[in-house]
Amino acid sequence: MFVFKASPVAIGACLIAGVTGARAQPAPSINTGGVVNAASSAPGAPVAPGSIASVYGNFLLNSPFGALGVPLPTNLGGLSLAFGSAEAPLFYAGGGQVNLQVPWELAGQSDASLSATLAGGTGPAQTVTLAAYAPGIFTVNGQGNGAGAILDDSYNPITTLNPAAAGITTILLYCTGLGPVSSQPATGAAATGDPLSLTTTNPTVTIGNVAGQVVWSGLAPGSVGEYQINVFVPANAPTGNAVPLTLSIGGATSNTVEVSIQPPTADQRAEQLRGQMMLDQELQLVYGAGGPVTNNPGLPRGGAGFVPGIPALGIPNLYLADGSVGVGNGVGQATALPSSIASAASWDVTEAAKYGSVIGAELRAYGMNVNLGGNINLIGREPRDGRTFETKGEDPILAGKITAAHINAIQAQHVIGGIKHYALNDQESGRTTADAEIDERGMRESDLLAFEIGVKDSNVQSVMCSYNLVNDVYACENNHLLNDILKGTWQFPGFVMSDWWATHSTVNAALHGLDQEQPDNEYFGAPLTQAVDDGQVPQTRLDDMAHRILRAMFAAGLFDYPESLGPVDTAGDQAIALEAEEQGAVLLQNTGGQLPLNAATIKSIAIIGSHADIGVLSGGGSAQVTPTGGAALTEGYPSVPGWAEVVWDPSSPMQAIQAMAPNATVQFDPGSNATTAATLAAASQVAIVFVSQWTSEGMDLPSLNFTDLIHTPPIDQDALVAAVAAANPHTIVVMENGGAQVMPWLGSVSAVLEAWFPGQQGGAAIANLLFGAVNPSGKLPITFPASVDQLPRPVIAQPPDGTTPFPVSYFEGFNVGYKWYDSQGLTPLFPFGFGLSYTTFAFSNAAVVNGLTASNPNFQVTFNLANTGPVAGAEVAQVYVAFPAATGEPPKRLVGWQKVFLQPGAAQQVSIAVDANDSSHPLSYWDVNSNAWLIAPGVYTVYLGNSANGAGLITAGTLQIGL
Ligand code: BGC
Repeated sequence: MFVFKASPVAIGACLIAGVTGARAQPAPSINTGGVVNAASSAPGAPVAPGSIASVYGNFLLNSPFGALGVPLPTNLGGLSLAFGSAEAPLFYAGGGQVNLQVPWELAGQSDASLSATLAGGTGPAQTVTLAAYAPGIFTVNGQGNGAGAILDDSYNPITTLNPAAAGITTILLYCTGLGPVSSQPATGAAATGDPLSLTTTNPTVTIGNVAGQVVWSGLAPGSVGEYQINVFVPANAPTGNAVPLTLSIGGATSNTVEVSIQPPTADQRAEQLRGQMMLDQELQLVYGAGGPVTNNPGLPRGGAGFVPGIPALGIPNLYLADGSVGVGNGVGQATALPSSIASAASWDVTEAAKYGSVIGAELRAYGMNVNLGGNINLIGREPRDGRTFETKGEDPILAGKITAAHINAIQAQHVIGGIKHYALNDQESGRTTADAEIDERGMRESDLLAFEIGVKDSNVQSVMCSYNLVNDVYACENNHLLNDILKGTWQFPGFVMSDWWATHSTVNAALHGLDQEQPDNEYFGAPLTQAVDDGQVPQTRLDDMAHRILRAMFAAGLFDYPESLGPVDTAGDQAIALEAEEQGAVLLQNTGGQLPLNAATIKSIAIIGSHADIGVLSGGGSAQVTPTGGAALTEGYPSVPGWAEVVWDPSSPMQAIQAMAPNATVQFDPGSNATTAATLAAASQVAIVFVSQWTSEGMDLPSLNFTDLIHTPPIDQDALVAAVAAANPHTIVVMENGGAQVMPWLGSVSAVLEAWFPGQQGGAAIANLLFGAVNPSGKLPITFPASVDQLPRPVIAQPPDGTTPFPVSYFEGFNVGYKWYDSQGLTPLFPFGFGLSYTTFAFSNAAVVNGLTASNPNFQVTFNLANTGPVAGAEVAQVYVAFPAATGEPPKRLVGWQKVFLQPGAAQQVSIAVDANDSSHPLSYWDVNSNAWLIAPGVYTVYLGNSANGAGLITAGTLQIGL
């Protein structure tokens, strides 16, 4: 039944076009030049035997007749048309038009005389010029131009909504006039499928200016006079909604039609490639070929993992490397960026994109093409977590948006981005056996929401499942997390890889959503082969695993942008490291306008502690970076907690401070002796104490005080600050740490700058901030508690042994971070969102505009923001919403923010848009009954301010939804 699929529009259009209602005449007549190619509609052009022609004339029929069955009749309504003695098979006869097949018997003739006969009356003959070939392509509009009658190989029309994919799709082109075929059907009979009637001459098809690859050409099986050409659209075919396409055969060229062609999607390319793979080739992709511990000899380029490619199929090797704060795993010297939490503290996705671009570009320069980054665990649950520095803080929306910005920038460098550790991997103590217990709504609105935003906003191609269990099931075989939520509800199209040795089973893990075991193949090697052979894991699931890995490689550009190893752009990347720290450091206290320091007047400065004469501290574990130029100092390995050595990045705050104040005497005291430090402080105009807190993957902090875990005996940094502060009223504390801290000495010092782990431009950034060359604008992405007693779990749950799962109750559910403090009525040391500036800002005229409706799911918070102080600076305007009490939501939720830079005295009208349909679900709660995000009716109060501190917020307005 190809004839009906092939050109229904074209033939249908002819049917309609033929209705004219002619009056009776003595005999039917044919117009001069009235025989045209039915497909191309080209007037006067020759037609070919075997093809379909339209004949225009006066056929004296009052009603049209159509023929659908084959063989076609040679008489419709008493009308017949004959080329000499050969009567033509007829599709249609109407008063003004007849559609017919030019009889095969005419083959070899250069012309024929055509006449029409009705009720015994034969009209005058017309001479019809015949050609061996008269190619014409049917068109959708039946006029011979515009979109061609072209189907994909599933017989769906190619349209702008279903474009052909360059390099993937074989299109079926319907045409006429291709001349002789190998198995000539009898006149009027349909082309048979057996044997196929192939054209005896090969046509060429030109797509744009590129030759298509004709893979089949013959009479469309089951049809009369209609030919079909199957053409593979080459990868280099031009793309667009209306790419011109022509057909040539035997020296004759058809009409030009249009076809929609687009570049293939990653899924199409992956499926095409996967279709060529053998079982063992698919299996090769689903596990690693060794990790940093098991590999012997070493991984080809270092890093954390390796998956060999398949050269015969052009599949490149996968080189996996950590990269949370710069290229990790000692792959090579790389720009040590400030901690990711500092990037979050910028509250600036543009800044975060620059941060990600450094990681992506440097990974690529080293030939690493999979990034094990995107640590988005909501460590606000447990700020003592040793990996806090890798994360983006405690709020799911801030963390999600910042992480997405990092990942987008990394993937723009043709490196597969990652997000980890999915999910609820919120403490390091017993991380491989901790069993996070949490209710569905609690996790959907907290840790999982951060992942949801990260996944949806970034097109991330890999997700790393975590070591821990979630509600009694290991994360890497957790059907609910992986299949139901990640791949189901969120439609994550990429692949799930295990954290290193976090796979616990073969069949369970494979069926429940794990796609790749890392770093080796204990479960997905021979046991998976066996499981597929046994049918315990269906072949289709293995196909899906391989497909997901390949589509990630296509989506990130690993095939199109082959590796290009090259030097790192050190200067450019270091500049971004500097800026990231300047934008992320948070000024926590500035009593009496202690800062900025005045370089012109300052005479003497004491620099105390934390190797501030030579470097700044970094965080440890898989995220640790070997800084450009090498470490200023390494300490402690293997005796420090965590499993990394302590790296002091090569960036001397002291040198940078001296450079800022060339006329001041700048002296250093290591801080190991509080008395000598206090003596130097007393003799100096200003004392700057650098306190630092070593943290690393593989450890949690014993407390939130600054605890020296590096030296023996440890330096009591709290006592050091207290002694210095007692000796000098102008004591400034610079903190180098990964997350929240408590500060027993806060009341005795004049200024505190949270520098986080500041990266290898940290020294310069700190000096720029202390002297006001840069005005601090970072805001805390994590609440600083007044004491560990305020935490949901004052004592961290500890594992009973190395193997037995143990519960960690996240009874606080979605009340993470500031939501916990709000819900408990606790006043923290510093609230989420807090940070000072050297200038002051005023909010005024706050309003909520545009109530929500079904068709307009947005509202805006508008206000005027003025810089009322003496210097240029940036404020982060934050919008929080209090939900109707009946929803049971936390007292308030961050829903939007904007960082605004203003010159002194300047003011700006600002509008922050909140879209109820955003991936962050800003106005919804998770409804466990309907298993969906819902917007509850009621009154919502919208707050505006510059931290989560309720007292400082102003009410911008209310939203009334559904009442
Ligand atoms: C960490 C991951 C890391 C992996 C590879 C694991 O110990 O938890 O974050 O990507 O090692 O280095």
